[in-house]
Amino acid sequence: MTNQNVVVPDAKQGIDITIAMALPKSLFSPVVPKPLPAAPGGYFTITRKRFSKKTETGGKISSWVDSMRDSSPTRVKSTTSLLETEEKNSWIVNHPSALNMFEQIVKGSKGKQIVMFLDYDGTLSPIVEDPDRAFMTNEMREAVRDVARYFPTAIVTGRCRNKVALAAASAVVILKVYSFVRLAGLYYAGSHGMDIEGPSKNNCKYKKGGVLFQPASEFLPMIDEVYNILLERTKSIPGAKVENNKFCVSVHFRCVEEKMWAILVEQVRSVLNDYPKLRLTQGRKVLEIRPTIKWDKGKALEFLLESLGYANSTDVFPVYIGDDRTDEDAFKVLRNRGQGLGILVSEVPKETNASYSLQEPKEASSLVQQASCYTFICGNNYS
Ligand SMILES: [Mg+2]
Repeated sequence: MTNQNVVVPDAKQGIDITIAMALPKSLFSPVVPKPLPAAPGGYFTITRKRFSKKTETGGKISSWVDSMRDSSPTRVKSTTSLLETEEKNSWIVNHPSALNMFEQIVKGSKGKQIVMFLDYDGTLSPIVEDPDRAFMTNEMREAVRDVARYFPTAIVTGRCRNKVALAAASAVVILKVYSFVRLAGLYYAGSHGMDIEGPSKNNCKYKKGGVLFQPASEFLPMIDEVYNILLERTKSIPGAKVENNKFCVSVHFRCVEEKMWAILVEQVRSVLNDYPKLRLTQGRKVLEIRPTIKWDKGKALEFLLESLGYANSTDVFPVYIGDDRTDEDAFKVLRNRGQGLGILVSEVPKETNASYSLQEPKEASSLVQQASCYTFICGNNYS
């Protein structure tokens, strides 16, 4: 993993901060952030705006809107300033392209069992206006299918795991992640890992009637209730789309005009005032209502590794590819374990616990494809 040493003295009362970054020493050594000397020798320094603030239920509406803006740019800029270019170049030094570092990844995983964890939206599929049409390409499907032949592979997503017919008045059948991916033999961890199912032919000790684990099942009636209230409360906000993801509710704002974001957040939070056992979090172009239980994509990753028999193994190399804030929990787990690799899919610099980066889903497809081709030629142990 990269050596992510960061110094953040406030330069202008918390508006601008200075960052000093070191070039990576060892790509696969456990990462322990350390302070750097103020006068760089071998480091370079940039000034940039503070990365987006962490938001949870509570806080000011304006903070939420700021955070939504930071993580969900509404337009692609046609010009890039020198400062932004410098910032991006510096970020890339600390989060190199996983495609460019493929050989080093191969070396780091030598003799270890690779386990693949893949987010869906923004990673396997592009972020599109209609979340029900976030289809993955056939090329991506083939790449995932191929890599799953060699390594245990899990789809870890905020979406519902399977296809469900909702009891809403519209009786709309919402396409869920299995309907998008359409691959058997994979693990599916839907609803941010709160709904986990594994393939039937494995030695998973948690296997029970197909469903491996649903730690928030008691919240199902509450989630349905909140989903229906939110449908009603947001229908006057053009572009807002509420999705029932079984153990969480997603409120997509990718088609909502920015001037309406504050109203949307206010509506969502007013509903949650009556449900203290639910909390509000934010992903890429989406607000999410989740049970307050301590369960996230990071916990799902740990659960799946344990299920596969790798809880305390030093011979496992988990690779997690994701694009948004909810994936950070998984990146953090890998970082704390000092094991494997977190890869952030992003075209812009972001604060992240991932070590490497990819620009877009197409690059994720190339990396997954490359991993299966290499394994086909050189064998499973990359030796
Ligand atoms: Mg995503």
